[in-house]
Amino acid sequence: MVPFKSFSLFPLRGSHLVLYYHRVGDGGAEFYPGGIKSAELLQAIQGLLELGFRFCSLSEAYGKAGSKKEFTISLTSDDGLASNHEIVLPIAKKYGIPLTLFVIGKCLDNQALAWNHKLIQIRRHSSEETLQSALSNLGSRFQISEEGSLSQRIFSVADSQKDEFVDLLWDSFCPETQNEFLQRTQPFLSAAQMQDLQDNGAEFALHSHSHADFSRLSYPQILNELRANQALLADYVRQPVPFFAFPYGRECKGDLIPKLCRDAGLKAALGFRYRISDNRRQNALWQRLPLESAHALSLEQLLLRPLARVLKPR
Ligand SMILES: [Zn+2]
Repeated sequence: MVPFKSFSLFPLRGSHLVLYYHRVGDGGAEFYPGGIKSAELLQAIQGLLELGFRFCSLSEAYGKAGSKKEFTISLTSDDGLASNHEIVLPIAKKYGIPLTLFVIGKCLDNQALAWNHKLIQIRRHSSEETLQSALSNLGSRFQISEEGSLSQRIFSVADSQKDEFVDLLWDSFCPETQNEFLQRTQPFLSAAQMQDLQDNGAEFALHSHSHADFSRLSYPQILNELRANQALLADYVRQPVPFFAFPYGRECKGDLIPKLCRDAGLKAALGFRYRISDNRRQNALWQRLPLESAHALSLEQLLLRPLARVLKPR
């Protein structure tokens, strides 16, 4: 893991790295099948520490961006899943890592599922065929695209109708109500877990109210998503930090981002497409790197991929 130590880190100086994951766990989770195993998280943390990185919160990184002489990295997680408390917090405490958690407003304390989480359950209880035929039946009502893969067709439903759409599918395919499912599985952080995380140095930031696709929302809708997220989060967290991670990494138009940051009182919005020149103080858009099995990235690839992009002649 260390052989590229001497040369690979040099271009990273001054560019703060931000990693993200969703669920950490070892079994095939019923709620969120993707994610990273706890041993992989541990290995990545130990490897990064060995390489000379220092973990710091996103707030600290933002405050020092551009001025630092060290290699810093932040560990962030999206959606506010309970594994952050059950599995990640003990690891974070052991290694002194301050977590930054991007949470979905409506899902806080297991109050509701976001539409994409509902869809995971619907897909567990249906087949490709039965879903395709359900989509055809609902096609005209929700203006579903007739072309493309199942996912593309589902994503073609307007954001304002997605919950209504998946709620119908839920009722057709899932054996229990959404409330029963939430009570039984408790997939999101509870109020007490958020409190404990906060008491142990974790900071909480925004991931929208409904996990909407921001590339398809109007500016007023975007602002509403953030304000609703801020309002609900304030009920659970002493001082949310002014950062926002785009759901699915789908950014709104770039020229809207500085205005959005001003209007919503944010320091930066975060996407999924890290390049070595990113994460400078003057930028309203910061970027992150995935730390999840689905991307099958070893630590070397994780660090070398953005470097390769920089070094590649254009
Ligand atoms: Zn998300």
